[in-house]
Amino acid sequence: MMNGSSLDPRAMRVIETPISPFLQNAPILACEDTSEAILVDPGDEVEKLLDVAKINNLNIKYIVLTHGHIDHAGGTKKIAQMLNIDIVGPHKDDKFLLDSLELQGQMYGIAAQVFEPNRWLEHGEKLTFGNQELEIAHCPGHTPGHIVLINHNSKIIIAGDVLFQGSIGRTDLPRGNHQDLLDSIKSNLLTLDDDYKVYSGHGAPTNIGVERQTNPYLVNA
Ligand SMILES: [Zn+2]
Ligand SMILES: [Zn+2]
Repeated sequence: MMNGSSLDPRAMRVIETPISPFLQNAPILACEDTSEAILVDPGDEVEKLLDVAKINNLNIKYIVLTHGHIDHAGGTKKIAQMLNIDIVGPHKDDKFLLDSLELQGQMYGIAAQVFEPNRWLEHGEKLTFGNQELEIAHCPGHTPGHIVLINHNSKIIIAGDVLFQGSIGRTDLPRGNHQDLLDSIKSNLLTLDDDYKVYSGHGAPTNIGVERQTNPYLVNA
């Protein structure tokens, strides 16, 4: 294999499409081999996300939620009904947030419907689509039921609101816990190699090495 090959046919591609007043990145994860894909956190602007999927000729298999906040979960029921696909995750400890989606939507001006996912996720479970495999890490702290998706083959982390470039998720919202969040990051993310790329719910991508070295919340972790 030549050095620096960027044409690994088994690679997973991440397409970010910032949506909603919160500019949530709503990543679409695509298998380069098969064009099968999944939607992560379709919080709002459902038509825009479907356009991105169509332009990229993707076959959307299901929806995964990292957590139950409105900017991540608001458009989920609408898009699941339109495409007749399942909703997977987050961890059931975020049920109280999904139950309050209409209320959250009224507070922030995002249309949302309450729903129950087809399946909750547990720590250590695996999800697949196309030739891709995602490991589930339960990372409470920002919310109690937050999950992170890890693709080891492509060294990609879909971090939701757990870890950001130079920062970590806020913990002042209902059932947030700062120490839980630090523990989640230390035991699930800082255990990974420096070259794992991190796609966060908001802002630019980063990687584990950069955050380990420079993130003010993690440098002494
Ligand atoms: Zn959040
Ligand atoms: Zn968010």
